[in-house]
Amino acid sequence: MTPHLLTVDTLSCHYGSHAAVDAVSFVIEKGEAACLLGPSGCGKTTTLRAIAGFERITAGSILLAGTALSTPDFQIPPEKRHLGMVFQDYALFPHLTIRDNIAFGIHKQANCKATVDRLLDLTGLTAMAKRYPHELSGGQQQRVALARALAPEPRLLLLDEPFSNLDAELRTSLAREVRDILQAAQISAILVTHDQDEAFSFADKIGVMHNGKLLQWDTPENLYDAPATAFTARFIGEGCLIPGKVIDGHIKTELGSLPNPHSHPENRTIEVLVRPDHLSLETQSPYKGQVVRRTFQGSHTLLHIALPSSQVITVTVPGKTSLNSGDETGLRLNEEVLSTYLVD
Ligand code: ATP
Repeated sequence: MTPHLLTVDTLSCHYGSHAAVDAVSFVIEKGEAACLLGPSGCGKTTTLRAIAGFERITAGSILLAGTALSTPDFQIPPEKRHLGMVFQDYALFPHLTIRDNIAFGIHKQANCKATVDRLLDLTGLTAMAKRYPHELSGGQQQRVALARALAPEPRLLLLDEPFSNLDAELRTSLAREVRDILQAAQISAILVTHDQDEAFSFADKIGVMHNGKLLQWDTPENLYDAPATAFTARFIGEGCLIPGKVIDGHIKTELGSLPNPHSHPENRTIEVLVRPDHLSLETQSPYKGQVVRRTFQGSHTLLHIALPSSQVITVTVPGKTSLNSGDETGLRLNEEVLSTYLVD
């Protein structure tokens, strides 16, 4: 059986007694684009630095194509791992042209010119080959940094918040573009970011991290539809959690008596995830709310609706709606997509 391209197995990294990374496990296959996503301080950069070989690991192991890169008592030096890295600051050489920046790590190779030509073409920079970094925009400079990292044909590319200096729109479009470039070159990558839109634009698999732990490693679709923890439910996608209680095998909430798909015990307090697209307006429904705001978005309208408890939820309505602020409406929650969480 072919080993996974990258295996991170119960990896821990400690600073003193503090576990910055705490028993994290995941695998990446060839050609896959992955992302570590989480709030500041959750341990994503430390995980990436451990894979790169810049961080000593205190437990577990990191394997590349079945060969150990790091264990607590053995570490292959970063330069011998054949991994590419792209950072937030593009770290281009200001006195070298774009072509020479890309060629920097491979100038002794016989096929250097052909490789640089191919990468200039792949990253859409051919017309700028003779320019210097300061003559390029931020997004173009980041594409140069990517081309330079790809030139030595790394087995895996590590991207540490590479788009965070760019504005929001460019960030997501460049994330998509980079993913396409990597796919064309069949190169696997791990992107570290705290930006969900960027993660969704880039990754086949996303790992959500919190307090050093990997809470879920999954496709963007599964993270949205079935977040495994309340933290992930709050962190990923639009929506809110409404309280409920298990009574006679059902979860009683302001949006009705719902099934108990995760079999939470009787009398326990539960949180139910309510996404805007999991709700519909239904005149006949006994569960009511009052519209507090309406936001027209072109293809759909967002209605912000206050429940009797005053908790405000958001509903997506296709196209336009005649409902206005102050109007009362009936609500129905789609029971087929219920995510519910036990409150400690
Ligand atoms: P950010 O998005 O802010 O970069 P992150 O998720 O990448 O955050 P890490 O940089 O991996 O988080 O840090 C994880 C934890 O380890 C944090 O609590 C941080 O304070 C701590 N930490 C990181 N580097 C060191 C260090 N050199 N010495 C001590 N503690 C550190």
